Amino acid sequence: MAASTTRVDLDGNAIKPITICMIGAGGFIGSHLCEKLMSETSHTVFALDVYNDKIKHLLEPDSLPWAGRIQFHRINIKNDSRLEGLIKCSDLTLNLAAICTPADYNTRPLDTIYSNFIDALPVVKYCSENNKRLIHFSTCEVYGKTIGSYFPKDSPLRQDPAYYILKEDTSPCIFGSVEKQRWSYACAKQLMERLIYAESVENGLEFTIVRPFNWIGPRMDFIPGIDGPSEGVPRVLACFSNNLLRREPLKLVDGGESQRTFVYIKDAIEAVLLMIDNPGRANGHIFNVGNPNNEVTVRQLAEMMTQVYSKVSGEDSIKTPTIDVSSKEFYGEGYDDSDKRIPDMTIINKQLGWNPKTSLWELLESTLRYQHKTYAEAIKQTIAKACSS
Ligand code: NAD
Ligand code: UDP
Repeated sequence: MAASTTRVDLDGNAIKPITICMIGAGGFIGSHLCEKLMSETSHTVFALDVYNDKIKHLLEPDSLPWAGRIQFHRINIKNDSRLEGLIKCSDLTLNLAAICTPADYNTRPLDTIYSNFIDALPVVKYCSENNKRLIHFSTCEVYGKTIGSYFPKDSPLRQDPAYYILKEDTSPCIFGSVEKQRWSYACAKQLMERLIYAESVENGLEFTIVRPFNWIGPRMDFIPGIDGPSEGVPRVLACFSNNLLRREPLKLVDGGESQRTFVYIKDAIEAVLLMIDNPGRANGHIFNVGNPNNEVTVRQLAEMMTQVYSKVSGEDSIKTPTIDVSSKEFYGEGYDDSDKRIPDMTIINKQLGWNPKTSLWELLESTLRYQHKTYAEAIKQTIAKACSS
């Protein structure tokens, strides 16, 4: 649908079609956002990325109902003079571009810092100088570790939400020491948030900052050896999917004790669309976007994914479904972890009335069904080829 009926914002006003410069549109979140914008709105998108595999289905063929409303520009924002022009021609810039896989934070800290801070600087500058609105993607990782994690293991204070719920306007950002290079990403993202905030206070930049809390779903990252490097280490959903597809044990880093809340990508995209369509309510805010009801330890996630994958693939699970690995073995020197991430939802509820809907079981079912359909055959062929050579 190209929004044949008039869409209205949260205050009942008709939403005017705008042009969005989406940087990093070819990634996981970008691909879902482009899909949503093409199918449910009349907005136009300049989709900037170095890759477009995940949005090819939206670009071709020319007969698609939204043809003309999405234009792909193969641009590396590190060094492309077309960036400023595209920002100038748009009403809103949305920046998703980043290195954002933890395996890179401690092994490629320079690339991580450049990507998440230095490379994003011109984007902020062009938006500020040209009076263009910016929605910038930061991360829940800016909170780092919880205050509670510093209490003794048996302290009842660890159970007190005051010491673990993460609030945009009051929680501190607690990172490990500099040698723990895991925090290079969080630190670069945090400095970028501070720069954007300062641009708004000193120069009037209209901004919204998004802090995603483990958004997951189809098209997230890559399956090593199939659509990404064999030795690559994606985020946990793709790591565990890869293990399940190959009938290997799922690897639990440092016992899989860390806790995460996972939100379905389609729920989270609804929140981003509300931000796009309601500037008066979204500007000047930092928003946690997550699902506080979907909390599990990484070990529980592994167990759940094993059960769900059996259901959707029709295959029994293997005898030893999980094994423990140390973080040093898995990620190398300098890894560290966030212990627990529960988003406070007060601000996003109040400003945008948004709430996530999908349970962890449901979102894993639809995601693993997609993973099985997309990759199972290719993996079988790779394994058969390796056995015959
Ligand atoms: P992703 O890696 O799938 O997408 C990022 C995209 O940016 C990729 O397509 C990449 O090619 C592109 N990109 C990177 N550097 C670029 C450059 N120099 N020029 C042009 N394009 C470039 O990641 P994602 O999960 O879609 O995340 C998007 C944003 O959200 C990132 O800023 C990330 O830090 C943030 N985030 C996501 C999550 C999550 O749960 N998925 C969690 C926290 C933060
Ligand atoms: N993890 C794991 N096994 C894997 C991949 C990740 O135990 O194969 C753990 C990782 O150590 C972290 C959690 O899963 O505690 C989530 O990792 P992810 O890469 O998704 O990113 P994060 O949430 O840490 O940003």
